[in-house]
Amino acid sequence: VISLQGLELAFGEKKVLQGVDLEVKKGETMAVIGPSGTGKSTILKVLIGLLAPTGGKVLIEGRDVSNLTEEEWNEIRKHIGMVFQYSALFDFLNVGENVAFGLRQHFRLPEEKVRQKVDGLLQDVGMEDAKQLYPVELSGGMKKRVSLARALAIEPRIVLYDEPTAGLDPIRMMNISRLIRETQRKHKVTSILVTHDMDSVYVAADRVALINNGKIVAVGTPEEFRHSDNPLIRGFITGEE
Ligand code: ATP
Ligand code: MG
Repeated sequence: VISLQGLELAFGEKKVLQGVDLEVKKGETMAVIGPSGTGKSTILKVLIGLLAPTGGKVLIEGRDVSNLTEEEWNEIRKHIGMVFQYSALFDFLNVGENVAFGLRQHFRLPEEKVRQKVDGLLQDVGMEDAKQLYPVELSGGMKKRVSLARALAIEPRIVLYDEPTAGLDPIRMMNISRLIRETQRKHKVTSILVTHDMDSVYVAADRVALINNGKIVAVGTPEEFRHSDNPLIRGFITGEE
C-alpha cells in the first residue's frame, strides 16, 4: 500500500533521507525506529505531502505521489490520518470540535452524524467526559488520545503515528499502544508507527524497520529484532552504542 523506493530528501545541502526503501503491506503496522534526527518524522511528512522528495519514488496505494499539486494532495489526505509528534491540536477549538475538524473539512455530513461519530471516537479513546474541554486543560496523555480520535475520525485507510507514546507515563504508553493495535484490527488500517518505545513496537507492530543516517538498515518482525545479534539493532534496543 505504501512503497518508498530510493527516497531522498535534502534540506539545502543537508541530505536527510539518502535512499530509503520501504514496503508497507495492506493492513500492516510497520514500526520505524532509529536515533533522533535520522529522518523518521521527515518520512511521514513526505507521506502526507508536507515535504516534497528530492529523489526517488513514493507510491501510495499504487499511485506515484512524487509530483502532485496541492489539490491532488487534498484528495489523498482524505484517506490518511496523522498523529503528530507534538499533538498539534487547535488551541481555540474544544476537544469535540478538534475531533470533528477533519470530518467537517473533508466531508459534507449532517451535524447529527458528525456528533455521533465524535462521541463514538471519544468513547473509544476514553475521553468522552472531556468533550467540552480546551487543549490547555488537558494533560499530555489526554492530548495524544484526542489526536488519535481526530486522526481516526475521517475513517482513514492509512494512519501515520509520530511518537504517539512519547512523554507519557508507562500505563498510558501501554494504553495508547493497545489502542493502535485495536484500531488496526477494528478498522483494517495500514499504519506506520514512528517510535522510540520498544514496548509499543512489541504490542502494536507487525514489522519493524531501523533507520540510521537516512537509510533503512534492517527490517524484520519485532521478535526477530528482539533476538537479533545485529549490532546496530542491539545498540538501538538496549541503548548501548
Ligand atoms: P526525532 O527522533 O528526534 O523526532 P527524526 O528522526 O524524526 O528525529 P527528523 O525530524 O526527520 O528526525 O529530522 C531529520 C533531520 O532533518 C534533522 O537533522 C533535522 O535537523 C533536519 N530537518 C528537519 N526538518 C527540517 C527543515 N524544515 N529544515 C532543515 N532541516 C530540517
Ligand atoms: Mg521525529
